[in-house]
Amino acid sequence: MRDFGLTSEQILMRDTVRKLARERFEPGAAAADRDRRPPLENLRLLAEYGYTGMSIPEADGGLGLGLFDLVLMVEELARACANTAMLYSLTDGAPTRAIVRLGTPALRAQWLPRLARAERLVAWSMSEPDAGSDIGNVKTRAVADGDHYVVNGAKLWCSGAQVADAYLVLVRLNDDPGLKGVGAILVDRDTPGFAVGRHLELLGLRGTGMAELVFQDCRIPADRLFLPAGRMRELLGVLDADRISGNPPICLGVAQASFERIVQHVRDRKQFGKPLAEQQGVQWKLADMAIDLEAARALLYRAAARVDAGQASIVDTSITKTYVNQMAVRVTNEAMQLAGAYGLAEEYPYERHFRDVRGMSVGYGTTEIHRNSIAREILSGRYAV
Ligand SMILES: Cc1cc2nc3c(=O)[nH]c(=O)nc-3n(C[C@H](O)[C@H](O)[C@H](O)COP(=O)(O)OP(=O)(O)OC[C@H]3O[C@@H](n4cnc5c(N)ncnc54)[C@H](O)[C@@H]3O)c2cc1C
Repeated sequence: MRDFGLTSEQILMRDTVRKLARERFEPGAAAADRDRRPPLENLRLLAEYGYTGMSIPEADGGLGLGLFDLVLMVEELARACANTAMLYSLTDGAPTRAIVRLGTPALRAQWLPRLARAERLVAWSMSEPDAGSDIGNVKTRAVADGDHYVVNGAKLWCSGAQVADAYLVLVRLNDDPGLKGVGAILVDRDTPGFAVGRHLELLGLRGTGMAELVFQDCRIPADRLFLPAGRMRELLGVLDADRISGNPPICLGVAQASFERIVQHVRDRKQFGKPLAEQQGVQWKLADMAIDLEAARALLYRAAARVDAGQASIVDTSITKTYVNQMAVRVTNEAMQLAGAYGLAEEYPYERHFRDVRGMSVGYGTTEIHRNSIAREILSGRYAV
């Protein structure tokens, strides 16, 4: 396995995206949050610059890069605007990876070149009112009817729902217990009987167009069945990569931004006749934040490199996601504290940074569910250093 140090190409890409995101995306980040407006124009700009379609093979119109490259990209986007980084997963996230890995040649030809140019956006829809961590409890049902499926049910918490062109939706296809009876179907936004329902607003990431999805006698051509029942493990395997490239780099990028901003603040802000940065208690907090960021980055880059080398284990995924999620809550929370009342004011980014990372401990598998996976590996004897 190669070292997880960056190549010169990766450094060039990272620095170019960092500059672009700082100049073009960061100025609108607060407004995207305040106005609950997905900054789609940022995705279009990234496509113009040739920075979309990273994990789509070159033969399918993409850049054919690895997960490590994607992690670097998402981290830089999140440093400037977390909502942009989340929206990026509509072109280069779980649905795209699923089509690359499991799609038929016809489906790949139809979707991947347009996904690579961000001309089409596909959202991932799994959660339901009664199916969260327990995804085997999916109740949205697809019943075969001639050359169609008739779908009824409701989905929750679909990130990007308001701006997506299509949705990769987990549906119950038969009464086999748990995940055995669940498959997936690809649904176009304009399908009769399908509607994007209520806008759902969480604590943070308010510019991702999250909504519920509603199916009422929605007739979907049978050839849009993406995955039959009995193969869910294959589809959920795709999520493992997303748990490294989708969620932790957003946490890392946002926490890094919060850290940099607070370092500047404590240098500038004077109390008791001197800058806050001259108080040893403040310095130690900065040092702890830097230690946390470095450890998280090392874990994340190692995990991404291992995925690219085909050597990732559940431990890489779950340990990395859990640690980076919790690091980001600690670092952004400490930045708020160090900024005093400014940290809680909407004119400053600290409270938004905290809100944006907080939900990441819930999305993409809660940190408790990931702890279950880690514990399972430890107790089965498979976890060894
Ligand atoms: C920012 C964000 C984005 C999201 N985007 C999407 C999306 O695009 N598409 C989509 O389908 N969903 C999305 N979700 C939903 C997400 O997948 C679910 O919130 C998640 O799976 C948890 O389900 P739940 O919220 O129903 O919580 P529950 O499963 O009800 O869990 C509640 C609490 O119980 C704990 N718990 C549950 N089971 C166990 C157990 N066995 N052992 C220990 N503790 C347990 C959990 O850790 C949690 O603390 C998103 C969520 C967030 C926060």
